[in-house]
This record gives sequence, C-alpha cells and structure tokens, in this order.
Amino acid sequence: MNNSVRNVVILGSGCSGLTAAIYAARANLKPLVIEGHEPGGQLSITTLVENFPGFPDGIQGPELIENMKKQAARFGAEYQMAHLVNADFTKRPFVLNFGDKQLLARTLIVASGASARWLGIPSEQALIGHGVSSCATCDGFFFSGKDIVVIGGGDSAMEEALFLTRFANKVTIIHRRESFRASKIMLERARQHPKIEFLTNTVVVDVHDVKKKEVTGLRLRNLKSGAEWDFPSSAMFLGIGHEPNAKWANGQLETDPDGYLLTRNYVFTKVPGVFASGDVQDRRYRQAISAAGTGCMAAMEAEKFLEEEGR
Ligand code: NAP
Repeated sequence: MNNSVRNVVILGSGCSGLTAAIYAARANLKPLVIEGHEPGGQLSITTLVENFPGFPDGIQGPELIENMKKQAARFGAEYQMAHLVNADFTKRPFVLNFGDKQLLARTLIVASGASARWLGIPSEQALIGHGVSSCATCDGFFFSGKDIVVIGGGDSAMEEALFLTRFANKVTIIHRRESFRASKIMLERARQHPKIEFLTNTVVVDVHDVKKKEVTGLRLRNLKSGAEWDFPSSAMFLGIGHEPNAKWANGQLETDPDGYLLTRNYVFTKVPGVFASGDVQDRRYRQAISAAGTGCMAAMEAEKFLEEEGR
C-alpha cells in the first residue's frame, strides 16, 4: 500500500464490491478493492446459487465470486488484503487507516457487507455449507422432505422457518427464551403453520456429525431443567441476526439503530464522495443480485462525482 491517491477505493470484495469494481474498472478508474476478513463475502460460504440470473443450472457461490473478481481484474481492478481500522472523511482526499498503513482516496464505495451471526460452537463452524446455513433462500431447496431446525426468536427466524416449510417436512424453531422478539404477526403466522413446531428455553450445545461432513442432528439443552438430549435434524439454519460491517465508520456516516448505513437515492451517504452499496446498507433484500445492483449504482455515481470534480 503506498500513499498515492486512488480515484476509487472499494471496501469489500463480495458481490456488491466486485460489481462496483467491474463498473469502475471499465470506466478506467483503476479501482482498488480492499478484501477484508471475509474475502468474497457471504457468497463465498454458500454452495449452489440458483437465483442469480444468467446461470440456468446454478453456479457455486465461490465460483461466481471468482468469476466477478477475474472480470474486474481484466479491466484493471486491483486487490489488497487489509482491514480498515478507521477513516477520516473530514479531509480530502479521504484518509483510510489500515493499522500501520494509510491510503488516500478521492471516492470510497463502502460495500463491506453484513456478517451473519453464528452460535460460535466448533461443530457448527465445521459444518457450514454441509447442512449448517445462515441463508434459507440460498440453501432451503436442498432439504426437500427433511426435518430441519431454525435457530432464533426474531423476525428473521420466523421468516426463514416459514420459507423453509416450502421444502421441509417439518421445521422446528429453537429459541433460547420463552418470549420472542419477532413481531406478533410473524410469530402468529409461524405458530399457525402446520409444519412448524417450537422448542423454547433451549440452546444448541453441539451439532452432529462433523466426521460424516453432514448434519444428522443436534445436542440440545433445556436452560430451565438443564436436561440434554439428541434431536435428529438434517439441517440447522441460523436466524439470529446479522451485523453490518460499519463499526469502523465510528459515527461519521449515518446509521440506523442496528448499525446499517443510511443512504439516500440508493447509494449516497451524507458525505459527498462516499457511497454505500450492498448488505451494509440493505437490511431488507440482502440478495446477491440486489447487492450487485447497488454496487453498479455506487460505481456509476463515483464516476460522476469524479467527473464533476474535473478528474
Ligand atoms: P433480532 O430481532 O435481533 O433477533 C435475533 C434473535 O436471535 C433473538 O431472538 C435472539 O434471542 C436470538 N439470538 C441472538 N444471538 C443468539 C445466540 N447466540 N444464540 C441463540 N439465540 C440468539 O434479529 P432479526 O430477527 O434478524 O431481525 C433484525 C431486524 O430486522 C428486526 O428489526 C426485524 O424486525 C427486522 N426483520 C424484519 C423482517 C420482516 O418484517 N419480514 C424479516 C427479518 C428481519 P433473544 O431474543 O434471547 O435475544
């Protein structure tokens, strides 16, 4: 990393950041893509993607990301692994701090995404993509006719469970408390559904079977009685929320109460020259194609901004 001023820095190498990179690179802006802790973003931990237009037989998430990366590189996009610690938007060009290194940017596209929350137990982590998933839309289809579980007690868990009833034989919602954060209407919909059952005051202590590389069941614990038992299941879907990756902005960009960046006209933040795209500013759709769409918009706006500045 050197101190020359970059026209466009793109924070994040998921679907949104890479789409922004393709557009900015084709505009001859030589964008620099910063790949953080989760290079490739959420698609890189998905298996088959069947809802991205243009792939009638589907495409593996990591392959889709690799293709996008190559496509942007072909037009001059560059990549660096780094972790943004903080940024100073009061200065022009903007100063981006990566620990002991700095970068200067005339425009910044924030496409740092949102990370699914996980339980954090080792067997869960080992089985991601093998029956453990945080995306019902992506992976639900693979569990047709199976008994599966959804973890969580908020709207995401209810939504995932309701969606998964299209495929699964039975969906059990496992929640650590008696009362739910989910809105009444969503909770009621789930409660009324003949394929959905609930287990409350219950947590997952282990996921079987790491050796077989597939989910065969869960070890559960009732938090009131302390009792533990094995619960057969073919999949575990996490619906315990997402964390937008925008803490580094440290109040310089507007966020909603949960930390998602607020944008106007799709991709404009309150700082001229700083644009945001993808899941870091989208808590509603959270799809690869919608993230790609706003990535495209952000790059086009960055180009326009530079042009208006006479660059
Ligand atoms: P949320 O409301 O924060 O709910 C997260 C749920 O996961 C909570 O029930 C929480 O349990 C549980 N949880 C968190 N960490 C856990 C852990 N380590 N182990 C076990 N359980 C854990 O998140 P969300 O459901 O993603 O919703 C976020 C926001 O998006 C909400 O405002 C929601 O209304 C909105 N949303 C709306 C819709 C819709 O309207 N269609 C759909 C999805 C999301 P506790 O309750 O015990 O903390």
